[in-house]
Amino acid sequence: PPVGEKYEYQAEVSRLMDLIVNSLYSNKEVFLRELISNASDALDKLRFLGVTEPELLKDAADLDIRIQTDKDNGIVTITDSGIGMTRQELIDCLGTIAQSGTAKFLKALKDSKDAGADNNLIGQFGVGFYSAFLVSDRVVVSTKSPKSDKQYVWEGEANASSYTIREETDPEKIIPRGTRLTLYLKHDDKGFANPERIQKLVKNYSQFVSFPIYTWQEKGYTKEVEVDEEPTEAKKDEQDNTTEKKKKTKTVVERYWDWELTNETQPLWLRNPKEVSTEEYNEFYKKTFNEYMDPLASSHFTTEGEVEFRSVIYVPAVAPTGKDDIVNPKTKNIRLYVKRVFISDDFDGELFPRYLSFVKGVVDSNDLPLNVSREILQESRIVRIMRKRLVRKAFDMILGISLSENREDYEKFWENCGKYLKLGCIEDRENHKRIAPLLRFFSSQSEEEMISLDEYVENMKPDQKAIYYIASDSVTSAKNTPFLERLIEKDIEVLFLVDPIDEVAIQNLKSYKEKDFVDISKEDLDLGDKNEEKEKEMKQEFGQTCDWIKKRLGDKVASVQISNRLSSSPCVLASGKFGWSANMERLMKSQTV
Ligand code: ADP
Ligand code: MG
Repeated sequence: PPVGEKYEYQAEVSRLMDLIVNSLYSNKEVFLRELISNASDALDKLRFLGVTEPELLKDAADLDIRIQTDKDNGIVTITDSGIGMTRQELIDCLGTIAQSGTAKFLKALKDSKDAGADNNLIGQFGVGFYSAFLVSDRVVVSTKSPKSDKQYVWEGEANASSYTIREETDPEKIIPRGTRLTLYLKHDDKGFANPERIQKLVKNYSQFVSFPIYTWQEKGYTKEVEVDEEPTEAKKDEQDNTTEKKKKTKTVVERYWDWELTNETQPLWLRNPKEVSTEEYNEFYKKTFNEYMDPLASSHFTTEGEVEFRSVIYVPAVAPTGKDDIVNPKTKNIRLYVKRVFISDDFDGELFPRYLSFVKGVVDSNDLPLNVSREILQESRIVRIMRKRLVRKAFDMILGISLSENREDYEKFWENCGKYLKLGCIEDRENHKRIAPLLRFFSSQSEEEMISLDEYVENMKPDQKAIYYIASDSVTSAKNTPFLERLIEKDIEVLFLVDPIDEVAIQNLKSYKEKDFVDISKEDLDLGDKNEEKEKEMKQEFGQTCDWIKKRLGDKVASVQISNRLSSSPCVLASGKFGWSANMERLMKSQTV
C-alpha cells in the first residue's frame, strides 16, 4: 500500500472517477491528449511567469514534454519541465474539482444521461487529469514547483476514495522542476505502453502542441565490422602453411534507445502563407486527413479583430464518402484546435453548415476555452463569427477553382460536390449570392457540357426577361419535350434540370441577376409574343373542341386551353400555375413509395 499522508477526494471527484472508469469507455485514448495538454498548460504558465521572473527558468532551460514507455511492465511516464505543483496545489488541483471545465462536464454528463442520450462526452470535453484512470490502475504524480524547495508525490488508485501525498525521497526521481506522471496501465490497456502506439497517438492528438514532445524510441544504425573469414576446404589446403587469417567486413545493425522529436512545433497554419509551398499544403492535407490524392484547392488565412483564428481549408479531389447521407454527414473533416491543442473533429454543423461538410481543414482559435464542448460551440458568439468567415472563405476557394484555366478541375469538383451546393440553395438563403454563380446545368444549347448561370445570362436574347428551365429525368427526355418547341424556334436557351434536387434548388433561388427562373411547363408561360387577334380567332374555331375534350377527360385535367406555346405538336399536358411540375410530382411519388 502506498505510504504517505492519506486524503479523501472531494465527493464530486469520486463520482467523476467512478463515471470515467465505469461508463466512458468509448474513447480511452484521449487520456494522452488530456495529459499532454496539462503538460503544455504547465509549460505555458512557466513561460509566462518566466517573462517577468527569469530566475524561475534557471534550473532547466528546456521547455519540453517527454513520454517514455515500458512495454514489458505496462508503464507510461509523461514528464514536463513546466510550472509543477506545490503540496497545497496537489490537494487543490488533483483532489477537488475547482476547475470549471470538469464541473461543466459533470453537469453535461448528467443532462445527457437524463435525456437518455448516447454520449461521447469524454471525447468532446476531456475530463482532464482524471482521464488517466481510463487506462491506469495506479497513477503517481511527482512534482516540483519553483515556489517550493521540496518535490512531492501524489499517488492514487482507480476505484479508491482516497489518495496519498508524500515527499519525494528517492534521489533518482528528483527533477529540477516540473511534473512527472507515471501511469501503471490496466491489464487490458497495456498496449498503450507500446512506443509506436504512443508515437502515433501523439502525432494524432498533439502534433501541433507548441512545445517539443519527445518519445522514447528504439533506433538502429548499421555499421561495418571486420570478422574473421571462415576458410573453405579448398582454401584450407591452399593456405595450409600460412598462419595468417583472412578478414572480411560484415554489416550489422546496432540497436539503441533515444528520444525522438514526435511533433512539429511550428504548425503549418502558424507559418506565413507566403512561405508555404503548394507541396507542403498538400502533404499536410494528406497526412492530416489520411488522403492519398492531392486536394483540388486550399486556402490559408488568418482573421483578426473581433475574433482571432487561423485556418487552412481544402476542397478534396474525391467525392465525400457516404455521399448518400448528404443530409446527415459524420465527416470528421474539420479539426478544431484551441491554442494549438487538438480539441475535436466531431462536428455537426457548428463550424461549417452541413452542405459544406465536404470541406476539410484545421481551425485554430485563441478565443475558445480548451475544454470547449459541443454545447459551448453551439451557443458561442465567437463560433458564429468563425463560421461565417469560414463559409465565406470556402466559397472564395470554390470560386477560385471555377475561375481556373483548367476547366476539368471544376468539372471534377462539380461531379463530386455539386449536390452539396444545390442543398445549400435550399438550406442557406443568406449565401444564395455566393452559391448561384457556382451552379452548373445542361441546357438546350449545351447538352454535352454544363454551363453556369453567368454563361446563360450572357447568352440571353436582348428582350429576354427570364431564365427558362425544364425539369426532367434526363437530358434526352428534356430535349424531347413539346414545351421546348417554341423556345427553340425563338432560339431561347432552356436549362435542363435533370438531377432530382435541381428543381427545388432553383425554386429556392427564385432569381439570378434579377432574372426570374421560369418553368416552361407551367400553364402561364408568357414569351411576350401574344397575338390577341389570332387568339380570338383560334378560340372561335377550337373552343368547342376544347369543351368536348374537357368533358371527356373530366376531373383528370383542370382545364383545356388554346395556347400559342406549341409549334408542331398538337397538344401538351401543362402543370397548373400553383401546382407541382410533372417532375416534382414524379419525385414526390417516388419518395412516398
Ligand atoms: P484543467 O486542465 O481543465 O484545469 P485538469 O483536470 O486537466 O483540469 O487539471 C487539473 C489541474 O491540475 C490543472 O488546472 C493544473 O492546475 C493541475 N495540473 C495538472 N497537470 C499538471 C501538470 N502536468 N503540471 C502542473 N499542473 C498540473
Ligand atoms: Mg487539463
